[in-house]
Amino acid sequence: MALVVQKYGGSSVADAEGVKRVAQRIVATKKAGNDVVVVVSAMGDTTDELIDLAEQVSPLPPGRELDMLLTAGERISMALLAMAIATLGHEARSFTGSQAGVITDGSHGKARIIDVTPGRIRGALDEGAIAIVAGFQGVSQDSKDITTLGRGGSDTTAVALAAALEADVCEIYSDVDGVFTADPRIVPTARRIPAISYEEMLEMAACGAKILHLRCVEYARRYNIPIHVRSSFSQRPGTWISDSSEGSEMEQAIISGVAHDRSEAKVTVVGVPDKVGEAATIFSVLSDAGINLDMIVQNVSAAATGRTDISFTLPATDGQTALTALNKIKERIGFESLRYDDRIGKISLIGAGMRSHPGVTAKFFAAIAEAGVNIEMISTSEIRISIIVAQDDVEGAVNAAHRAFELDAEQVEAVVYGGTGR
Ligand code: ASP
Ligand code: MG
Repeated sequence: MALVVQKYGGSSVADAEGVKRVAQRIVATKKAGNDVVVVVSAMGDTTDELIDLAEQVSPLPPGRELDMLLTAGERISMALLAMAIATLGHEARSFTGSQAGVITDGSHGKARIIDVTPGRIRGALDEGAIAIVAGFQGVSQDSKDITTLGRGGSDTTAVALAAALEADVCEIYSDVDGVFTADPRIVPTARRIPAISYEEMLEMAACGAKILHLRCVEYARRYNIPIHVRSSFSQRPGTWISDSSEGSEMEQAIISGVAHDRSEAKVTVVGVPDKVGEAATIFSVLSDAGINLDMIVQNVSAAATGRTDISFTLPATDGQTALTALNKIKERIGFESLRYDDRIGKISLIGAGMRSHPGVTAKFFAAIAEAGVNIEMISTSEIRISIIVAQDDVEGAVNAAHRAFELDAEQVEAVVYGGTGR
């Protein structure tokens, strides 16, 4: 008998029909002789709707209350799912994140899991029941307040539970048949990736591939939990994410895929005096403001002026905070001005094979040039090349890179079964 953790995303349980369909899948897994723990997201676009609602009553909702509100979304779906399973003649018990033992730190809206103590889940399994857990939420160890793990956090709940319960597999059910070589919503000819390593999947998730939450992949790698990403709308095999050193069946593609991200903005600090310590001051102010930077570029200073420009990208949602923090030290640093641009996009080419295959960079830049796209910033890792371009160029650039590396499927195989892409 295996212990299977299954996670169903919002589009899989968007309405009553969806809930019933998912209930059937869960019961089938149980009937096949498995212990089943299910993590469920809020129905459809519920989380976005709750956020809209909060913003209508308060321009800046307190984090504690916003978390309390948002966790209601997952409670609705977990209870409905348990009812639908009961109707099929099987016992299911729903649990909030807190009841399931998901203990987090206290940072509302982006809490980190500190510990998972799933005593009640084990108890339910021991008594033959199916356990249904509300995704994306936990309880703060210190304040005992309810927290959320950040958008898309149900994936992380599932893997964290799988690790704590020593599950055999964690299945993540979505509205597409797995991880694709690009987002099928903008590259219809994208190909399903049958197997991918944790490290490549980490880069994909960090570069905007929304199929999996970044921390979910980090967690899976740390505890070596194999993940199977697949669709709840079909019976097709999906994508296996596991340690590439295990099992040689994993065919090594040079390039795994092309990810894109439209959620970042670019700040340029213009005319920074070329002196020791200026960059340190700028970045420590941003770090004190709790901002995570992505790419950083410093130009060579112009000899005539002794000044240079420093540009960096960050989540657009942190843009205002960054500008305010930097303006406070304008006099002290003596920079000339700040420029802000949130009409940018990031394109990333990812593949473990680029370590050992020369020519990948040249081919990538040639493809971008041929598409007539201007590059604003570049950054690389061992297995990734990322560029910043104008937001309107994202679609063209992703398609050009995808074509250049021959990632297109011969026949269109990507089906987007549900979801609004919101
Ligand atoms: N419902 C939450 C969200 O929409 C969590 C999740 O779906 O994983 O972000
Ligand atoms: Mg989601």
